[in-house]
Amino acid sequence: MEKLYIQSYGCAMNFSDSEIVASILKKEGYDLTNNFEESDLILVNTCSIREKAEETIRKRLKNFNNLKKNKPSLIIGILGCMAERLKEKLLHEEKIVDIVAGPDSYRDLPNLVKNVKLNDEKSVNTILSLEETYENIEPVRINSNGISAFISIMRGCDNMCSFCVVPYTRGRERSRNPQSVVREAENLFKRGYKEITLLGQNVDSYKWSTITNNKRKLERNQDLIEITQFSDLLELVAKIDPDLRIRFSTSHPKDITREVLNVIKKYENVCNYIHLPAQSGNSRILKKMNRTYDRDWYLNKVDDIKKIIGNDCGISSDFITGFCSETEKEHLDTLSLMDQVMYDYSYMFYYSERPGTLAQRKYKDDVPLDIKKRRLSEIIDRQNKHSIERNKLTIDKDYKILVEGFSKKSKNYLKGRTSENKMVIFPKKNGIVGKYVDVNIKSCNSATLFGELC
Ligand code: SAM
Ligand code: SF4
Repeated sequence: MEKLYIQSYGCAMNFSDSEIVASILKKEGYDLTNNFEESDLILVNTCSIREKAEETIRKRLKNFNNLKKNKPSLIIGILGCMAERLKEKLLHEEKIVDIVAGPDSYRDLPNLVKNVKLNDEKSVNTILSLEETYENIEPVRINSNGISAFISIMRGCDNMCSFCVVPYTRGRERSRNPQSVVREAENLFKRGYKEITLLGQNVDSYKWSTITNNKRKLERNQDLIEITQFSDLLELVAKIDPDLRIRFSTSHPKDITREVLNVIKKYENVCNYIHLPAQSGNSRILKKMNRTYDRDWYLNKVDDIKKIIGNDCGISSDFITGFCSETEKEHLDTLSLMDQVMYDYSYMFYYSERPGTLAQRKYKDDVPLDIKKRRLSEIIDRQNKHSIERNKLTIDKDYKILVEGFSKKSKNYLKGRTSENKMVIFPKKNGIVGKYVDVNIKSCNSATLFGELC
């Protein structure tokens, strides 16, 4: 058997896609390896979201250069967003690359590989699809702990946030047949998995019907009444078994509905955790970002979450500092939004202009880098303060934890997460990995809770 090494960068969607790719190539006789030096085929699943992500990938390609010099038969392919963004250009820029395959062309990978092998030709397929969801492909789980797994439920994005490259690299929104999602979750549960995360760029705008799985076509077809919405899918998956925990990511604030919040409330196994990226706390900047909501609207959504699910519900966000023309006062609005919501966690970035996006074409990237970075460090400091305050609220309380394995730092400790997505470390006990246990929280820092088994 030939050896395949896949390296994934960026979001969970990319990791999930790599598992689909591994499954497609396994049927062609490729066995996964963790050691790139023994591989016959190296695939790098890439991210274009920020300039830095692309730079990291280009550096990694340099590492493969020496290997290829000593083993000319080695095939190197670039998959995902960077492949889609740069297309053939990537072959000229990175001479060691043999294959360029966009996110909707993974079924074609066996042909692309054959073309390189038999004809000694470079191969490119970056055609985006309106319908592809890879729904009948059972992913090969990569580096799995056997407890948690991702299930991709929709692909693409129709939102056109002005800063974001995703709509150009991942194409139109389409949703996967709900029955195929349920089947995949049931199979995972039968194999001992206890937690699944439903994945998509905008899971809450999931929409499926027997007529079409493409969101835009579906919305145009007014006669369709039998539409499966995200809340329906969430409920179907929640009903599989109360011992199967369900998470989902990412929710665009405009799409998360009361129905979804009610399903979270109704089912104990649907986790009390919502990732609700705000991006900014200022309404002018949000408009410029084309986020389709303003500050008050976003805060009302957070109120709904707290009213329906409760104040304990874990809420996290993404923020971008220094977006085009952002003033100091507008930056302070982001800090005050953070104060009001009191997020448990945030992913924070400074603005990175991406070629081809609306912002790159229409606005000037005019906030100097040192100011972007200073604002970023201010929101990071604020988030750390809030994370500690939120974590302190858990002390002396009992939480149901799904035990995931050993703590990173010591084999004498185990780790697991609460429903609210907080990581808990506690002294080891044999035979409980993959099981639910109750833990009493004794102390915390901004990232972790420390507890003892009840
Ligand atoms: N679909 C999700 C949403 O709407 O919130 C976000 C997915 S995106 C892959 C992840 C995050 O990357 C975004 O929420 C945003 O904060 C960040 N991001 C996207 N484009 C960026 C850019 N040009 N510069 C800096 N950060 C960016
Ligand atoms: Fe990018 Fe906006 Fe789509 Fe999220 S919703 S992937 S930020 S365009």
